[in-house]
Amino acid sequence: MRDEIEFWSTGDLTRLRKLATKWFSENGRNLPWRLTSDPYAIWVSEIMLQQTQVATVIPYFHRFLESFPNVVTLATAALDDVYRLWAGLGYYRRARQMHEAAKVVKEEHAGVFPTDFQNVHGLPGIGRYTAGAILSFSVDQRQPIVEANTQRLYARLLHLKQETSSKAGQAHLWSFAEQVLPKRKGSGSINQALMEIGSQVCLPKNPLCLICPLSDLCPTFKSGSQATIPVPKRPKEFTDLREVALVIQDKKGRILMRRCAAEERWAGLWDFPRFDVTPCRTAASEAAHAATQFRARFGQSILIGRKIHELKHSVTRYRILLQGYEAEIDSSARARWNVDVETVWSDAEELSSLALSSSGKRLWNWVSRNRGDSV
Ligand code: SF4
Repeated sequence: MRDEIEFWSTGDLTRLRKLATKWFSENGRNLPWRLTSDPYAIWVSEIMLQQTQVATVIPYFHRFLESFPNVVTLATAALDDVYRLWAGLGYYRRARQMHEAAKVVKEEHAGVFPTDFQNVHGLPGIGRYTAGAILSFSVDQRQPIVEANTQRLYARLLHLKQETSSKAGQAHLWSFAEQVLPKRKGSGSINQALMEIGSQVCLPKNPLCLICPLSDLCPTFKSGSQATIPVPKRPKEFTDLREVALVIQDKKGRILMRRCAAEERWAGLWDFPRFDVTPCRTAASEAAHAATQFRARFGQSILIGRKIHELKHSVTRYRILLQGYEAEIDSSARARWNVDVETVWSDAEELSSLALSSSGKRLWNWVSRNRGDSV
């Protein structure tokens, strides 16, 4: 056996398609987005399924389509209504980009979801995989797809020695993804079948090779190297940051929240005013730095009180220690609010219904349970 298989023979590819299709017809799950050929509905499911489990997505998918049954209803909805239906799925950027993409479809494609690869790929939030999935599942276009499950499956079917995320590894995987597609009809079914085998059989740890329909064709199974293919990723290198989040209450007990601007990490979502204090060496200097930053951003002086809570979270390659401090506006220093920053004073009920950043939501959950306590 060669160390790495560059190409499969036509005969083996034909066999792979037959075996995968037969297995899928007998074992494929009956998921709601597999019962439609509407590219809009398939797009919604694909975006929701990014970083989210199937079982979690199903009720969200139904609710979303009930409220926004087509791309025009989504395009004309208020972004906050879209966020409300997304609440709990996380990664709100996906919802915001869907909303933006729906507007593009409405304005540039007369409200009809495009079926041309370049136009679909050009929409906000739609990458190569998602465009291929939408078009192969909805209109059976011959579009290759590589996502987490097929990536692992193809790496094993190719006995791939490179890291899957490397340039060479990706080129190899996409080339194979194209080879496995039939020349004429049936690309959508083959893509679905191979994704399902990847997700239900070719598991990351302990793949179910003994019941795998493709085991006779799989060099990784034959060489017993399932534990080392795909090649394990090098561990991520993290940068540690410290941030201060200000829980500012007014005399009525309402809390000041701000909407994150378009260029920020949680664009469009609400959050406590927060500032990076990584360079500060002491708690006093952190508080002073946050107060200075607050004045510069919001135009107001504040009085910072106790540290009430801290929590850890990670965003991409950053490991962040978020520290919540109580604070109030210094009413003795009369100044104008900076109107360029979108803010709202919210009571507990209003605040619970806002679309918050994930770490902001964790801090709010703690504050709402423990108002008056400290760390
Ligand atoms: Fe994956 Fe095993 Fe099937 Fe190969 S035989 S594709 S390693 S489940």
